[in-house]
Amino acid sequence: MSDSRLQEALNTLKESGVRITPQRHAVLEYLIKSMSHPTADEIYKALEGKFPNMSVATVYNNLRVFRDIGLVRELTYGDSSSRFDCNTENHYHIICEKCGKIVDFHYPSLDEVESLAEQVTGFDVTHHRMEVYGICEDCKKKEQH
Ligand SMILES: [Zn+2]
Ligand SMILES: [Zn+2]
Repeated sequence: MSDSRLQEALNTLKESGVRITPQRHAVLEYLIKSMSHPTADEIYKALEGKFPNMSVATVYNNLRVFRDIGLVRELTYGDSSSRFDCNTENHYHIICEKCGKIVDFHYPSLDEVESLAEQVTGFDVTHHRMEVYGICEDCKKKEQH
């Protein structure tokens, strides 16, 4: 399953004329296999053993390339560290207030919110973002000990 997603992503890179370097391959593979929403720093730490010459800035630049061709989404939460999401289908996020973990969940897109917002404000709406917050299962278990 994740192998075919990786292959698809690599094809998209090729079609966009982006050179597939070993580092880009590794960053993409990490994003797809981890199924989490890592920061550039987390990816860097996971791969620095394999690529001793790679810097956080390189990882970030690669992520920007992926973002610009629509392979990943960049999620910003008002702090300095963006998170990257390789699930580009429409979905919502639930975020753990204790450990910061972000989990995907699917819910029919709330399109009516967008049309209502347009009617009420006169804006041209481009997209919306919704996050749900709580305590994840792992953190709940830890609290019980
Ligand atoms: Zn948690
Ligand atoms: Zn996501």
